Amino acid sequence: MKISEPNPDIMHIEALRKEFVSDFGRDTLENLTLEQYAMRTGDKKNFCYRLEREQIGMGDIRNATAQKFGIWVRKTTGEYDFTKKYGETPEEAFSVIRDELCKLVDAGASDDYTAIRNNKIAPIVRFKILSMYYPDKFLTIHSERHLSYFCSKSGIPFSEEDDELVLQRKLILWKDGQAEIRDLSLLEYVAYLYERFEDPPTVDKGLTKKKSRLRKLKDELKVFDRQHPKKKRTEVEVAQRSVLVASIVKERAAGVCQLCNKPAPFYNKNGEAYLECHHVVWIARGGDDEVYNAVALCPNCHRKMHVLDDSSDVASLKEIAKQ
Ligand SMILES: [Zn+2]
Ligand SMILES: [Zn+2]
Repeated sequence: MKISEPNPDIMHIEALRKEFVSDFGRDTLENLTLEQYAMRTGDKKNFCYRLEREQIGMGDIRNATAQKFGIWVRKTTGEYDFTKKYGETPEEAFSVIRDELCKLVDAGASDDYTAIRNNKIAPIVRFKILSMYYPDKFLTIHSERHLSYFCSKSGIPFSEEDDELVLQRKLILWKDGQAEIRDLSLLEYVAYLYERFEDPPTVDKGLTKKKSRLRKLKDELKVFDRQHPKKKRTEVEVAQRSVLVASIVKERAAGVCQLCNKPAPFYNKNGEAYLECHHVVWIARGGDDEVYNAVALCPNCHRKMHVLDDSSDVASLKEIAKQ
């Protein structure tokens, strides 16, 4: 499809969006009730349901839990559940949320970036609301990961400190400088970005890949044990097996030290996060060279374990190794 042709999908999305914004105008928001706001099973009219489910074309936020809305009706009990940062009771929490909602819509109108940044509504919801009310100023891409992906694909310089607002601005400025897409609406522009560069690789895919790699290594260990019965193992085979155990333990740790919980301090030449395998009960003290007795530590914590072997560290690592 040529860019200049009207896109029927986008026309439909735009019509739905207009309906939402007229149903929840600024004055309506001011007097919104908890019932009208909170997501509850079987009610498709509330603000949260419509924002998340009806307005999928304006950016999909379904994969984050209901917590992002601050308050919601729990399916199992039918009672309100809410994030304690907003208040002690459902009423108290909702009055803060409603207030923040109004402030956000005002901040979007006046391009008050500081107020947008300080707003207490969860970022993913915050940015979706901004793009709903101001589709000519805010993109329907709400995640920082997607925004920085498109910046890097378009060759737009950006830094780690750039937040969603800055990344959106950069992408919009870039569009304005490209003759062939300058005239697209922001909605059309977003469709163009996803079509041209496709979706960024998802975090989920990475995790699935990780899991299967871990499974593969564990299977390899099983095969090894079947082929080399414990009693007949040569010294070389014991060492080979030990490397396999260490790989499993490091894969399981996923690049984070299991004692201090900090990311590995550097990557090795193969691009793998550098961690060391440590046996909670030392091999020298009769500990088993098995996954259930081993953890992955950063070099500092590894040294610490060998110098201090602090009993509370040992106890917590024992728990971790068992998993
Ligand atoms: Zn550490
Ligand atoms: Zn060690």
